[in-house]
Amino acid sequence: MLIEQIAEIRRNHPDNLMARYFDAAYFKSLSAADQERLSRMILTGIRNPDSIMGAYALYPDDYERFQPYLDLMIRDYHNIQGDLQQRTDWDCGDEVDLTRIDASLADCSMRVRVGRNLNNFPLPGAMSKTDRVSLENQMVKAFAKLIENPAFGGHYSSLTPGAAQQISQQEYQQLVADHKMFKDMSDDPYLSVARISADWPYGRGMYESADGQFIVWVGEEDHLRIMAMKRGALLNEIFVRLNESLGMLERQGLNFARSATYGYVTSCPTNLGTGMRASLHLALPKMTQNGRDLAALKALVKNLGLSVRGVGGEHTSAGAGGLVDISPRARLQVTEAEICQQLYAGVKALWEKEQQALS
Ligand code: ADP
Ligand code: MG
Repeated sequence: MLIEQIAEIRRNHPDNLMARYFDAAYFKSLSAADQERLSRMILTGIRNPDSIMGAYALYPDDYERFQPYLDLMIRDYHNIQGDLQQRTDWDCGDEVDLTRIDASLADCSMRVRVGRNLNNFPLPGAMSKTDRVSLENQMVKAFAKLIENPAFGGHYSSLTPGAAQQISQQEYQQLVADHKMFKDMSDDPYLSVARISADWPYGRGMYESADGQFIVWVGEEDHLRIMAMKRGALLNEIFVRLNESLGMLERQGLNFARSATYGYVTSCPTNLGTGMRASLHLALPKMTQNGRDLAALKALVKNLGLSVRGVGGEHTSAGAGGLVDISPRARLQVTEAEICQQLYAGVKALWEKEQQALS
């Protein structure tokens, strides 16, 4: 049944990587328990046949356990031939100053986030409600150490009903509007079939440093989404801040799941490697027809190795004056510093095209 269903998806949705690389002989070679586990992992790509990837890992060791299959999908999505080597380098240099592109880019909204998961829990798609709340409690203890440190300070806000730090629905909506907190995931069909959004809003929350520039999401698509955000022009500043803050979190005893081959383990194979997305809010009024049309820009940025999102994040539209979210597409087989440099080069290329575009 499952095998026929996937064969049909492969015929009708050739871009669905789960279906493209599914091999019935490999599936049948697995133990009954592993067949069940793999079926759960790919259910989202079966129920949502328009998926690009179509699978979310459920346990930190899934990438090794099901490597013969997942490796094909990962290499295809990330366009990797030959050896796969994930190196780490956070030294972005100080050339990545947006005012070198144009003096008017002195006050851009810059953000860099990484996805991280802890070794001591299943990944979000396989967590029970109890797991979700225990993970949050573990994080609240780590955040308490940050809060008492004058370099961090700040506070934790929880969505968990009855939690000591629970915030109101109104406060939550304000944090979403301020681009600080993640949206309600429960109506996202990809995340809900994968059970990543299950038990919403239990175990969900965010830590924010006193200066608002360091934020940690708890309980979104990965256990943790850790980010630095600020307005300015020096991209390296947010990378330094994020790297130092990650070190601080690790010193609180957090153990981030890593794969020998694929770098940091993330729920979605698209985020493997660095787990990083570095983005800039950039106004491109001509190329987006004042924000009315993102499609043409999306096609154009693909050749530049970039992604474009709306100003409220994935699946949103452009903001006033054609404000969009630009980020390098690469996450795997690339260093953190290279992502920073790709963002700089990408913004430069887009900025030049925008100046040339007819209004
Ligand atoms: P991700 O998957 O990287 O976490 P999303 O597309 O889901 O990103 O967006 C999450 C939130 O982050 C949204 O509120 C979005 O507007 C905000 N955001 C992303 N990039 C920036 C940026 N450069 N400046 C301000 N907010 C940003
Ligand atoms: Mg997201």
